[in-house]
Amino acid sequence: MSTFSHEGKVIIVTGGSRGIGEAVVRRLVREGATVHATFVSNPDRAASITQSLAGERGTVTYHQVDVSDEAQVNAFADAVRTASGRIDGLVNNAGITRDGLIVRMSGQDWHDVIETNLSGPFYTCKAVARTMMGQRNGRIVNVGSIVGLGGNAGQANYSAAKAGIVGLTRSLARELASRNVLVNCVAPGYIETDMTGKLNDEQRAAFVESIPLRRVGAPDDIAAVVSFLLSDHASYITGQVINVDGGLAM
Ligand code: NAP
Repeated sequence: MSTFSHEGKVIIVTGGSRGIGEAVVRRLVREGATVHATFVSNPDRAASITQSLAGERGTVTYHQVDVSDEAQVNAFADAVRTASGRIDGLVNNAGITRDGLIVRMSGQDWHDVIETNLSGPFYTCKAVARTMMGQRNGRIVNVGSIVGLGGNAGQANYSAAKAGIVGLTRSLARELASRNVLVNCVAPGYIETDMTGKLNDEQRAAFVESIPLRRVGAPDDIAAVVSFLLSDHASYITGQVINVDGGLAM
């Protein structure tokens, strides 16, 4: 596996306790970063990841933060600044699903997904923007989804939030470019995690048939692109949505 160097960088990863976020944390720590990651409900998992990464080039510290709560996000960003003195990167990865056809989708299901998947990234971006602008250096990577581009039956709330992530990414990319803060979105296709574990074997096989590369993705497939976008090799890329989906959304 080729790697990038994140030595000396302080990087926040939301939802770093499972799935894609965990893979991002593991990769960035191995590449030398000082990572501050969040979880919301799973302290044991956060502790075991921390333990398993002891002795790597970088470090991870987990914080319990509900990203849909602006006060918690602000307190978290303050804690990172106090502990590490700077914030070089932010990966907005935390996300949930509350799927259902529109006629059965409750207002609460709509609200919860929009709050976690769209308002959460707004709160985190706002909480780090001034610091990154002052440093004249920063990278923000928002994890979207290909369903934010093409929609998906049964995911009106989730697709709307992920479409919003594209607008947030592009607006902030324009707003922050003059301060050398680069903002991009990675849009995964079907990645094997707890989130997608709800499909049965038949549904999964039908899905794989529709993917040109004929396989589902792994969390590491996303982590590699996130790491690249945080690296010095991506210093002329901003405002982009990069699909990592085996060709699904061509
Ligand atoms: P996952 O395995 O379900 O993990 C979700 C992570 O988000 C967990 O670390 C969870 O923390 C955290 N989280 C959930 N709600 C939170 C909240 N309110 N505040 C803070 N953290 C919260 O999900 P995943 O599949 O890795 O997905 C990660 C991201 O990729 C999401 O944004 C998702 O929409 C996106 N994505 C995934 C796929 C896919 O196929 N898997 C496809 C497209 C996009 P706890 O462990 O504490 O619960």
